[in-house]
Amino acid sequence: MYLRHILKEVLIFSLLTVTTQVGGLVYLIYKLTANQLKKRRVEKPPFLVGLFIFLLQYFFFTLVIIPPIAKQFGRVPMPYFATKDNSIKPLTIFTCLLNRQYVKPILKEQIIHTAKVVAKEFPNTRIVYLDANFPFWNGFPLLPHLSHKDGKKLDLAFMYKDKVTGKVINGSPSFYGYGVFEAPQKGELNQPTICRKKGYWQYSFLEKITPQWSKEKIVIDEQRTKRLMQLLAKNKRIKKIFIEPHLKTRWGLSNYKKIRYHGCHAVRHDDHIHVQL
Ligand SMILES: [Zn+2]
Repeated sequence: MYLRHILKEVLIFSLLTVTTQVGGLVYLIYKLTANQLKKRRVEKPPFLVGLFIFLLQYFFFTLVIIPPIAKQFGRVPMPYFATKDNSIKPLTIFTCLLNRQYVKPILKEQIIHTAKVVAKEFPNTRIVYLDANFPFWNGFPLLPHLSHKDGKKLDLAFMYKDKVTGKVINGSPSFYGYGVFEAPQKGELNQPTICRKKGYWQYSFLEKITPQWSKEKIVIDEQRTKRLMQLLAKNKRIKKIFIEPHLKTRWGLSNYKKIRYHGCHAVRHDDHIHVQL
C-alpha cells in the first residue's frame, strides 16, 4: 500500500516535470505544505479543493515567480498574446501555461522584429509560435523536441488562410500546431517516404494522432509563408531553419543555405518551421 502511494507520487512528480518543468517542484511544495498542516491536525481537504489549491499555487509560480527568475538565467517568455505593437502570439495559451514559451532574449527580439515587418506587408498577420524551450537548465529537453533544450530553438506555425474566402487565419489546421502536413506532391522529393522506407516510423507518426478535420477549410498561404521564410533566412542572428525539402523547392527558397534538412531521426517539418540561433 505504502509502495503504491510512493509510486503514484513519483509518477505525478515526473509527469509534471516532463510536461511543464517546474510543475513537479510546485507539487512537492504543495505536498510539503499539506504534510505540515496534517501535523497540526488540519483536516485534509476534499480532492477537488486540493486540486484547486495546487492549481492556484502552480499558476502563481508560472505567471509571477518564474519569469523574473528565468530572466536572471538568460531566458525570457515569448509574448502571451498579440497587442498593437506586437504581432506575435502563441497558437494556444497552454504553451504559456505549461512554461513552454521560453527563449533567449535575442531570439525573442528577432522574432518580434520579423513579425513587425510581416504585419506591415500583410495587414492583420500575426506570427504564431508553437513550442519553444523551458525556462531553466541547458540540456533539459522540451519533449518530444529533443533539441529544444537551450533557449535557442523556437517552432513557428506556417501562415494560413480560409480556403473559400481567402481571409487571413492566424492559427493552424491542427489544434496544437503539429501533425497536419503539407505533403509532397507528385514529382516533388518525397522525404517522408524515404524515411519510412529506412524504418523511421516516428517521422510521420503525428498525422495518425492528430485530427485532420480542418485541413479542407484552412489552407496554407504560400505567399505569406514564403515571405516569412525569406525574412527569417536573411536574419543574421538566426543560424538554422528546418522545413521539408519539397517545401524549400516549392517555395523557391533553394538559394538560402540556412534552410536545411533535419534528417530522418526527427519528425516531419511540413507542418511547422523550426528556427534556431
Ligand atoms: Zn523545433
